[in-house]
Amino acid sequence: MSDCLFCKIIAGDIPSKKVYEDESVYAFYDIDPQAPTHFLVIPKEHVESCGAITPENSAVVAKCFEAISKITKELGLTDFRVVSNCGPQAGQTVFHLHFHVLSGRDMTWPPG
Ligand code: AMP
Ligand code: ZN
Repeated sequence: MSDCLFCKIIAGDIPSKKVYEDESVYAFYDIDPQAPTHFLVIPKEHVESCGAITPENSAVVAKCFEAISKITKELGLTDFRVVSNCGPQAGQTVFHLHFHVLSGRDMTWPPG
């Protein structure tokens, strides 16, 4: 997807602060952190959102969560929140599937 911000970040055309990378996943720190630790985990395959997951592409979700488990262990994070906004009303602004990982402060529930 040539006009997708996160595809451009994966390609290295837009700089990012990398946290982790493997053959199917890229993770990088959020440019506007909402917690002391806030990074995004994205599949390298362009998928628009959680609403676009199908039997054909759902393996990318497992890969993202494997990465989340690995990264949080490496960073020593035991308490964290994983969020994926789907659609503008839910707060999605970048239409490439991503999981926010937030940690380092008290979290409220329900989220605002
Ligand atoms: P969402 O609003 O759930 O779609 O999340 C998109 C996230 O991408 C926001 O938290 C933004 O702060 C973040 N973001 C936007 N541009 C960049 C960028 N160039 N590098 C890192 N994070 C970004
Ligand atoms: Zn994309």
